[in-house]
Amino acid sequence: MAKLTVSDLDLKGKKVLMRVDFNVPIKDGVIGNDNRIVAALPTIKYVSEHGGKAILLSHLGRIKKEEDKPGLSMRPVAERLSNLLNKPVTFVPTTEGKQLEDAIDGLSDGDVLVMENTRYEDVKDGEYVKRESGNDPELGKYWASLGDVFVNDAFGTAHRSHASNVGIASNMGQTAAGFLMEKEIKFIGGAVDNPEHPFVAILGGAKVSDKIGVIDNLLAKADKILIGGGMTYTFYAAKGMKIGNSLVEKDKIDLAKEILDKAGDKLVLPTDSVVAEKFDNDAAHKTVEGDIPDGYMALDIGPKSVAEFEDVLKSAKTVVWNGPMGVFEMSNYAEGTLEIGKFLGTLTEAKTIVGGGDSTAAVQQLGVADKLSHISTGGGASLEYLEGKTLPGIAAISDK
Ligand code: ADP
Ligand code: MG
Repeated sequence: MAKLTVSDLDLKGKKVLMRVDFNVPIKDGVIGNDNRIVAALPTIKYVSEHGGKAILLSHLGRIKKEEDKPGLSMRPVAERLSNLLNKPVTFVPTTEGKQLEDAIDGLSDGDVLVMENTRYEDVKDGEYVKRESGNDPELGKYWASLGDVFVNDAFGTAHRSHASNVGIASNMGQTAAGFLMEKEIKFIGGAVDNPEHPFVAILGGAKVSDKIGVIDNLLAKADKILIGGGMTYTFYAAKGMKIGNSLVEKDKIDLAKEILDKAGDKLVLPTDSVVAEKFDNDAAHKTVEGDIPDGYMALDIGPKSVAEFEDVLKSAKTVVWNGPMGVFEMSNYAEGTLEIGKFLGTLTEAKTIVGGGDSTAAVQQLGVADKLSHISTGGGASLEYLEGKTLPGIAAISDK
């Protein structure tokens, strides 16, 4: 069933609690990259322009002791938000109590307020009590009492059950998805639940063990699964091929065999690899077909594999990509990932979706992100979504 979204709500004069993802990189009070704040702007602006009083909550980093707090204050984030919105934003340096309640009472329609880092609640009087990240029922109830409606736009935390997402929602009459959340549900959720066929998954990255759940779930749904990256060589080993010094998970070889048996020709492995003498961009390297020679490690898929993958991808209507095809962080082993990314950009008739922390970084770093349909904003959350798991933060959003 479709989820309620912020555009379904009557916001005028309402106190609108909003869970956003302002978990930006920050050092000595300086924000490294404000992508996540920018990504939250459409929903914040919408609420403000429709006469809602926006009360923003987010976590920032991890807080395990009192000393963690000062460096992870939300104040610089509130200041950056004010600059981006080009209007004043009220910052309240606490997460509960009279100062916060008075500030909320003082809001006019269209105003924006940011409260302190929700994870300040994880440490009380020097003790690590995890009220926020352990979803303390009293905390969710208290925060819910501060607003009239709840908008959850923080996809990045949707796989966690925290007081500021699930806790508030379970104490609130209506919870709606924000625009970012709506987009994630539409693309990743749509691909997993109701894909247009042919549906091709591209799975790479470092380890088989990280991706078992994704492989299992997508085997049941996709028409083809293209394997690349480090996990390839555990599959090679399972087929009795030579792998040289390539990455391998010995204790997963049997599992890889089972997957190969179950998948049949649905699963496609690379036929050639770029191999190097060392895990180093400057190491001597070459392209080989099939077996990886002794003394070499495979660090990227080769050009023949790229062409074979493209041949499968060209007729796809839905493509989900998780995990780089090689060690894209080093220029000599980035080609496979880059070529696949570029090719996906040409598939204008297909929905092309990228999920996963490093995969997202790869398509952005290689400059192919803007040609794709959807780049997920949540690494861990997108993986769990691809595994077919129910994400508590999404489950807690009201149905339409
Ligand atoms: P994601 O975060 O998108 O889920 P992963 O964390 O699974 O992706 O994988 C990303 C990492 O996999 C990258 O750091 C990349 O360097 C590494 N990787 C890809 N191919 C290989 C390979 N052949 N050998 C070793 N590491 C690899
Ligand atoms: Mg990763």
